[in-house]
Amino acid sequence: MANLPQTTNFIRDIIIEDIKNNKYNGKVITRFPPEPNGYLHIGHAKSICLNFGLAKEFNGKCNLRFDDTNPSKEEQKYVDAIIEDVKWLGFDWEDRLYYASDYFEQFYNWAVELIKAGKAYVCDLSSEEIKEYRGTLTEPGKESPYRNRSIEENLDLFERMRKGEFKEGSRVLRAKIDMSSGNLNMRDPVMYRIKHEPHYRTGNKWCIYPMYDWAHGLSDSIEGVTHSICTMEYEDHRPLYDWFLDQLNIYHPQQIEFARLNLSHTVLSKRKLLKLVNEKYVDGWDDPRMPTLAGMRRRGYTPEAIRDFIERIGVGKKESLVDIALLEYCVRKDLNEKAPRVMAVLNPLKVVITNYPDDKVEYLQAINNPEKPEMGVREVPFSKIIYIERDDFMENPPKEFYRLTLNREVRLRYAYYIKCIDVIKDGAGNIVEIHCTYDPETRGGWSPDGRKVKSTLHWVSASHCIEAEVRLYDYLFTKERPDETEEDEDFTNYINPKSLEILKSCKLEPSLANAKPGSIYQFERLGYFCVDTKDSKDGSLVFNKTVGLKDEWSKILKKSNFNISS
Ligand code: ATP
Ligand code: MG
Repeated sequence: MANLPQTTNFIRDIIIEDIKNNKYNGKVITRFPPEPNGYLHIGHAKSICLNFGLAKEFNGKCNLRFDDTNPSKEEQKYVDAIIEDVKWLGFDWEDRLYYASDYFEQFYNWAVELIKAGKAYVCDLSSEEIKEYRGTLTEPGKESPYRNRSIEENLDLFERMRKGEFKEGSRVLRAKIDMSSGNLNMRDPVMYRIKHEPHYRTGNKWCIYPMYDWAHGLSDSIEGVTHSICTMEYEDHRPLYDWFLDQLNIYHPQQIEFARLNLSHTVLSKRKLLKLVNEKYVDGWDDPRMPTLAGMRRRGYTPEAIRDFIERIGVGKKESLVDIALLEYCVRKDLNEKAPRVMAVLNPLKVVITNYPDDKVEYLQAINNPEKPEMGVREVPFSKIIYIERDDFMENPPKEFYRLTLNREVRLRYAYYIKCIDVIKDGAGNIVEIHCTYDPETRGGWSPDGRKVKSTLHWVSASHCIEAEVRLYDYLFTKERPDETEEDEDFTNYINPKSLEILKSCKLEPSLANAKPGSIYQFERLGYFCVDTKDSKDGSLVFNKTVGLKDEWSKILKKSNFNISS
């Protein structure tokens, strides 16, 4: 299981205190409770790292529990994807894979118990009427005319609800608490609703389904959870969580709330992500532009980088917006040590080295990772015709352009100094190739006479290189907070029309011919790139740009005088 560095946070402090006081006999049991109605996103990673991380640190256990109480939205394919993602992130629930739907019978029996105690009743109001009767923050609610049904009648109706005798929406089971409570959640909340819909696990066994507030605390109690960690929006639900457990007088975990993660330039809501998928703004849940774990994996983000990011943002109670540049910084930092360097030319410009022998090929030594000498060296073929990046040549350069131009000498990485002597254009004036000479004395990229050049270019040999498709990504949204829109505005208005750019015939050094799907490289001077796991086929590689080399985050920190630790 993944090791997380331990910085403190308020939940950790609560647990330390509980252990000291021998609350829960010093045990720590947490759970990660996703609803299988979508893929996990980076916000879920915060909850996963927190729950599994705390359990590990305090020698406890963390369960993976599917909170699958709504048949309309849940599917087995999401269960499978969630399992894969939590494993990939580096966490292990051992044999503790649970489903709320396995507890339906127990939930039902507890509901009957509450009815018998006069604490729950069947209500025939429609959902609109229930809303109307609920009142507002400033006005108390009104009691339902069905509130004082006899226990016998409630038991009979509830049983018949289960048997499927009633139409959807015609009746619900409600807790009998307090219609004048200052907390709207306590105004006789619904516990069960009728849904004549098959459930992906229980099939047609049930046609009444428990509400989240009813099911969640009971599930935690069944599993002996000690600290039930959830996001702030459930703070107002805690009195209800407590009420159900207290009325049933069963084992009572402690609910603790923390602030959810918000990330700039993206949305972290499954409903919105589902819309992006369904309406084909992206190519599925694992599109590399998505903030999903599956998307990030496909993009080349590593579990180590994501865990590092989560550790750095910390855990608090106040909502904030985290700059996506911090996540990119963590990815870059991790890949810098892991990714082998290679040369790839994305927008090729043909270069003929006029004084190089026609048929000669030299194999020049290149370093795989200057940060990690143990990653060794490789040989890169050099020949008369090469490709360089189109951007690295300018015929009429501005003053601060130090790369190649007519009559200027530059270094080809690991190869030679070359000097441009001619520019060849087509009829329309477009540059089709350039001619250069090379200095045979500068093999390896160094001049024995100490002559200096101002830049070093990457290149590939035209007759040896392989071709590949490269996909470049930009933020999915142009707005920093696309989820903060006016009421009549749709968040999709802010989708970045330039979030994907496809380059079809990039030229890569031949060592990449056998690159495995999922492997990640640094293309020198360009950034980190990952072999796409979905669209790469034998003989035709597709690369996703993972992240650039430029460190936007360090710039942000420098501006704010903030220190990045290690
Ligand atoms: P969404 O709001 O995206 O629909 P959800 O909260 O309904 O997500 P669940 O599957 O119920 O999704 O979430 C499982 C767990 O992950 C919950 O405990 C939830 O609090 C937590 N979680 C969801 N989103 C975030 C987030 N952005 N930051 C931190 N934790 C989150
Ligand atoms: Mg939820």
